[in-house]
Amino acid sequence: MASAPHFKRLALIGVGLIGGSIARAARGLGIVDTIAATSRSQTTRKRIGDLGLADEIMDTAAAAVADADLVIVCVPIGACGAVAREIGPNLKPGAIVSDVGSVKADVVRDMAPHIPAGVHFIPGHPVAGTEDSGPDAGFAELFINRWCILTPAKGADQTAVRRLAEFWKAFGASVEIMSPEHHDLVLAVTSHVPHLIAYNIVGTAFDLRLVTESEILKYSAGGFRDFTRIAASDPTMWRDIFLHNRKAVLDVLGRFNEDLATLTRAVRDGDGETLFKMFADRRAIRRGMIQYNLDSPAPDFQHADSKPKAEPLPRPYAALDDDD
Ligand code: NAP
Repeated sequence: MASAPHFKRLALIGVGLIGGSIARAARGLGIVDTIAATSRSQTTRKRIGDLGLADEIMDTAAAAVADADLVIVCVPIGACGAVAREIGPNLKPGAIVSDVGSVKADVVRDMAPHIPAGVHFIPGHPVAGTEDSGPDAGFAELFINRWCILTPAKGADQTAVRRLAEFWKAFGASVEIMSPEHHDLVLAVTSHVPHLIAYNIVGTAFDLRLVTESEILKYSAGGFRDFTRIAASDPTMWRDIFLHNRKAVLDVLGRFNEDLATLTRAVRDGDGETLFKMFADRRAIRRGMIQYNLDSPAPDFQHADSKPKAEPLPRPYAALDDDD
């Protein structure tokens, strides 16, 4: 990785699926000398040590960031502000501070006031994940062929932005820069509202009581199975997403409900012409995406397990060696 950036000391605040994947990838690629990590609970801190994911495990976030030149906050969105308040006074001048939160405008609002002048705050969101949580769920290849969206402020230091972008690119991700507000609208359309629909349809199916649970499981076609997998996502993370991206989600839901009302009316009126036209339009959109290589014909809701696995990265970290 000749062009990969090198950081002397990476601090990870929160080591679950995302923090654990960053630790594994950074170690596998050798692009950091030292990883310092912390997690809220003693149980997870012990597990980080057992898995060999960090060189130094601290009891507090403030201690973990001392002397770090790259800090990545990997905790639920609702906890980012409190973490920023805690680490602010201990950040090294010139350090880069980022996060991985799935919503950006509220995270910027909550974190930015606590980041001192001379420290570069560059928020980020790797658009990659699975429905699993915790440090055991992470894997080094999670970010390969995925997008990482950075949302730096207008006057952000361009060298710092470039270094962070190169860090994510080293993991196999593609990097896009946009405003926090635009990020939140894009993700409301592509991820947040689809998850809400999945949570809703799975609830509706199991609440109906007109068909049995075993009939639902037995006759589920691929689409419904995908909904159940999405609805198995972490409830804390998704609660925080809907608490912190309310405006964009409500805008998209408003449009969604209007379209659903049109479909509902067409079904009720037996209006085959409207139904056919709407379905044909949607089919054309999907076929256009495949034609321009924007997607494969297989269903994919941005979960890593629905894509063919990329080549594994080297694994010098302790715990997985036994399995190799
Ligand atoms: P995770 O596996 O559940 O790990 C969460 C980490 O945050 C753990 O270290 C946990 O500590 C810590 N934590 C939990 N609540 C906390 C609190 N109130 N204060 C301080 N620390 C707390 O979560 P994750 O999936 O890695 O998600 C982390 C972030 O990544 C979220 O902001 C999420 O929006 C973003 N993200 C997630 C995905 C995804 O698909 N999962 C994708 C992209 C971005 P303990 O274990 O010690 O309690």
